[in-house]
Order: sequence, then C-alpha cells, then structure tokens
Amino acid sequence: METQNWLLKQAATQPNQIAIDDGNERLPFVELKKQVEELVGKIDHLNPGSRVGLLATNSLMSYKLALAIMCSGRTIVWLNWRLASEELERQIKDSELQLCLVENSLWRSGMTKPFKSYSAFLMTSADPGELIPVFKSNWVASIMYTSGTTGKPKGVLQTFGNHFYSAVSSALNLGLSSADKWLCVAPIFHISGFSIIMRGLVYGMTVRLVEKFRAEEIERILANEAVTIMSVVPFMLKKLIQQQNKTNIHYNSAFRCMLLGGGTIDRETLETCLQRSIPVVQCYGMTETCSQIVALRSVDALLKLGSVGQPLFSTQLKLSKDGEILLKTPALTPGYLNLPDKLPSKMIDGWYRTGDIGHLDKEGYLYIDGRADEMLISGGENIFPQEVEQVYQRYPQINEVAVVGQTDPVWGQVPVAFVVSDRRLSTAELINYGYEHLARYKVPQHYIFISELPKNASGKIRRFMLREKLNNQ
Ligand code: ATP
Ligand code: MG
Repeated sequence: METQNWLLKQAATQPNQIAIDDGNERLPFVELKKQVEELVGKIDHLNPGSRVGLLATNSLMSYKLALAIMCSGRTIVWLNWRLASEELERQIKDSELQLCLVENSLWRSGMTKPFKSYSAFLMTSADPGELIPVFKSNWVASIMYTSGTTGKPKGVLQTFGNHFYSAVSSALNLGLSSADKWLCVAPIFHISGFSIIMRGLVYGMTVRLVEKFRAEEIERILANEAVTIMSVVPFMLKKLIQQQNKTNIHYNSAFRCMLLGGGTIDRETLETCLQRSIPVVQCYGMTETCSQIVALRSVDALLKLGSVGQPLFSTQLKLSKDGEILLKTPALTPGYLNLPDKLPSKMIDGWYRTGDIGHLDKEGYLYIDGRADEMLISGGENIFPQEVEQVYQRYPQINEVAVVGQTDPVWGQVPVAFVVSDRRLSTAELINYGYEHLARYKVPQHYIFISELPKNASGKIRRFMLREKLNNQ
C-alpha cells in the first residue's frame, strides 16, 4: 500500500494552511515544501546512505530536517540528547549512521564524523532536491530508541503504515477540526512528540512547536493562542497545575484536550483537573505502537477517572491470565533494529505482549496497574510500585518518591522507598502514614533520602538505577 507523500499532498491541497508555528515563524505547507526541497538537495549531495541521525531539540530546523530526511527517502534515527556520549556512540554504531545532524546548541567538544552540526550542514551547497512522490506503508520512516526505563534502549522500527494508522486512529477518537492546533513540547525524539508531527502531516493540521517545557510559557501559550490540543506526560501536567495555583490563569476557550500518557497519574491530580475543567484525556501507548493505542473518549473522561480508556479503532486488546496487556494493531512495529528475535519473543499467538499489567472494568475500560518487570512479590502478594508512590506523593513534605523491591529472606521481596524531601522525615511517621492508606504489606519499612530521582528524557523514573543503588549499599 502507498499514499502520496504527505507533505506534497498537503502542499497541493491546502497550500496556505499553516503547517508549523514555533512562536516566531509560521510556515504554510507550500513554503515548507520549498524549504524542505532545499534541505533534501543538501542531504542527497552528502549521499549518507539510507539512514540519517538527528540529535535535536524541538526547534523549527529540527522539524524541517526530520521532514527532509523522510522526504529524501531515508529513515530518521532519533537520538536522545540526554544520553552520555558512550550511549550515543552505541546507538550510532547500531544504526550504522554515516551522517548525524546535531543541533548547534547540542554540539559537544570532540564530536567528529558522522556528526555534523546544523550550521555546517546548511553550508553544503547543492540544488534543491526532489521529494519522493509516495510513502510506502512498509517503509521505515523512523527508528526510535525506547526510553530505556528497564535497561538498554532498543531501536524500534516505525513504518509509514504504523504512523498512518496511529494518526487516523487518534483522529477517530478525538475528532478533527479545521481549527485544530496541537502543541508539541514533548521531545520530538520520543514518539509522544514525533507522533504530533506525523499527525500534522496526515491531518493538514498546525503544529505549535515549543522548544522547552517551562510551565509559565506553556500556560501563556494555552491562554493566549488558539491551541486546541496538547500532549503531556504526568510531570508536565502537575507543573501546569502548580503554575495555575499561582496565577489562576485559564486556558483559551477552544482548548479541548490535554492528552495525558506515558506514565501513571495520581487521582488527586485528575480530580483537580476535573474541578478546574481542564479537559484531560488519558491514553496508553508505547514506542512500539507509535504512540497511543488505547484512549479515553472526551465524553467519558469524567465518568471513568483513572482509566486509560478503550482500544482505539484499529487496536484489539485482551488480557492474559496474569493480567498482561496483549495487543493486535497495525501500528505495531515490524521489529527492533538488529534484534530479529526480540519481537517474536514478545509475541504470543499473534498478540503483542506489552509487559504491562492492567485490568478491565465491566464496560471494557482499561486501567493500568504497572509494568510486569517492576512488580514485586512480597509474601506471595503483588505490589505495584506506582500504587505505593501515588499514596506517598500526596504526603505534604514529599517532593518525589520511587519504590523498588529489595530481596528479603522472609518475604522474598519488600518495597523500599527513595524519597526526595526538603525535610528529614522520620521513618515512623512515614510508615504510619502508609498504614492509613495501604494494605500493610505494601508499606515500605525502609526509606532512603536522596536529592533527586534518576529519570530519562521523558521524565520517567529509571528504577533499575535505584535497584543498583540498593544492591551497592
Ligand atoms: P523500555 O521499553 O526501554 O523499558 P519504555 O517502555 O519506558 O522503555 P516507552 O515506549 O516510551 O518506553 O514507554 C511506554 C510505556 O510507558 C508503556 O509500556 C507503559 O509501561 C508506560 N505507559 C504509557 N502510558 C501509560 C499510562 N497512561 N499509564 C501508565 N503507564 C503508561
Ligand atoms: Mg517498553
């Protein structure tokens, strides 16, 4: 199956529609196409093979380069700028890059080939290139390394078909209006951000790109610009609420969806949003499924607080007998780069095993309990760290908390809490607090105070690092 190149399609059918707006510049599709042609000419001239890396922040140039790489018929390899140089080298080797374009501000001393800064790249003199006329659904548009929450990142292959089904399924759920403008502050090297760019191309919708998450600036944009949808991960939503506590500023009246995914959220935050009429729509997805595959409908958001909703149109979902979430979806990756056995090992009778544990209510709404590999078993009882963390997050003097399992001779495993707090809290008060809200076996008996939790670029706690810390104690 193939479709016309999405950029060419939009440039032909709605040339004057604004494709991208970074707060300074607003580019209509027809002008974007022209600029992308110039960049494609430069890429073709450098003849870098079938993949090009991008070490990018959410800048306008990164956006244009991403389009240019795809439209030159090559695959984008998204790299995370928070990686240490050694990890970066590993991914570059894994994806056999001959060219990796680096945002000027991310240039590190000692970088040599295949790295090339944006400014050095832009000096390449070449005629404008021709954009590939079609996108075939089995072509790999992008390779994205997973967050690495559980260990070493894996390169997920994402085809145009995956992106297309993802974009269409989302539109069938959220609806689509010609006035839609989607704010993208999630990193574009993660699927939460890049999927917005792809939706923009499929829908012909304006993407409002923001470089960095600063609650004050986002609030100002949501209040003063006609943004209708924004994707957030839990920490962003919490910061926005704290910001609103200070300013009491309300978002513009066209704002219709705060799409929340990527991790568990506490009930209190959802209830606050409800009281303030912030239209939160929870969703669930992963790099392997090109973003959300399960989401709430806006109309259900109030009725099903805490649920991530029902499978989107093109997704089938069921639970294994252990509660693992199993999926079939055309948005599922065809596999991992250089790991041919990895995907087959995650499949069972044609269903993809997500590694996440959940439960369904009577009406088929999904609730995420946590990740199977993070679940700990204490005296035969399952404990999901997220559930314990959500309780302790409500404790007034706790800024952040993470729970991991520690091997225990009596119980097999026991939960241990890492706590970030400005005050030295007593273990007794924390344990007593836990007993008020949780079953006894879920309450950590041991608390370790640290200055900050290790997190990845999407704000997720890297629990395996905490476990290493425990083992090294
Ligand atoms: P790795 O696979 O390398 O360990 P990762 O799974 O964290 O990394 P992503 O693909 O970015 O990388 O994240 C997807 C995961 O995030 C899901 O499998 C799930 O565990 C979690 N997740 C996503 N949405 C939600 C949600 N709404 N509630 C709870 N957890 C979520
Ligand atoms: Mg994963």
